[in-house]
Amino acid sequence: MKITGKTKIAGIFGYPVEHTLSPAMHNAAFEALGMDCCYVPFVVHPDRLSAAVEAVRALNLLGVNITVPHKEKVIPMLDRIDDEASFIGAVNTIVNSDGRLTGYNTDGRGFMQSLSESGIDVKKRNVLIIGAGGAARAIGYYLAQKAKGLHIYGRTPERAERLAADLKKVSDKVLAVQDISSVGGFDIIVNATPLGLKDDDPLPLDAGLLRGKKTVCDLIYKDTRLLREASKSGCITMNGLGMLLWQGVFAFELWTGRKPDVDVMRKALISNIS
Ligand code: NAP
Repeated sequence: MKITGKTKIAGIFGYPVEHTLSPAMHNAAFEALGMDCCYVPFVVHPDRLSAAVEAVRALNLLGVNITVPHKEKVIPMLDRIDDEASFIGAVNTIVNSDGRLTGYNTDGRGFMQSLSESGIDVKKRNVLIIGAGGAARAIGYYLAQKAKGLHIYGRTPERAERLAADLKKVSDKVLAVQDISSVGGFDIIVNATPLGLKDDDPLPLDAGLLRGKKTVCDLIYKDTRLLREASKSGCITMNGLGMLLWQGVFAFELWTGRKPDVDVMRKALISNIS
């Protein structure tokens, strides 16, 4: 990569951020399009978030991705929040237009695009999301509108109920469930918890419940134990790599107004997964 006097900078703010795969995919996309742009990881301590956001303006960055733990806290620091990010209550992409910062959330759209490219249709299907955090909220926004029914299960029932109540504002097909053993009635199960990041993590649900023709998705971007168990039971499975890819594709489009080469980005991601 050649840095010139005109190089435009995009990046990611997180704490920690060392594990991120985003620089690999965005820099590959810039290079494939011959764009004089560069994507950089920034370790932003929570106490310095506001200064870092001001630096997006001061340094005239194209924009940045926002990751854990800043996705919610960044909202009051921006000039405008688009409707979807505002509903979700979290921002993963900031676009800088001449110092005016707009916050977007491309996670939900990224997940839906990854389902669609995997040939998974949610229409006429009942979906269960396990987890009620930011990612569950982002995908729930779309699943509530597109699926036949959407159920939310969380280890903290009040949080699951709050999410279900919020999602009812976009669709009346949403319910919080208290008992995951009723899982027999679901066609698609999505793990939106961090359970599975470590190989010795417990499963987010009992493996005995993974029967029949179910589709099991994990937002974690590798094949977790949940996905391996589901696959053994004959379920269709999908990991979170596609979501990671497509949220990045949509962020890239927001910053540059251009369509990146998705296969180049996918290859860069895969070759950087350890
Ligand atoms: P989050 O906001 O912290 O929410 C995590 C959710 O998981 C909460 O509902 C939490 O329960 C639950 N949880 C945490 N630890 C648990 C445990 N030990 N047992 C049961 N439930 C547990 O996190 P997030 O941003 O939604 O992320 C969730 C997962 O999605 C992470 O693995 C993240 O890496 C992944 N993700 C992937 C992508 C992608 O592009 N592929 C994008 C975003 C996120 P409480 O409500 O009780 O705290």
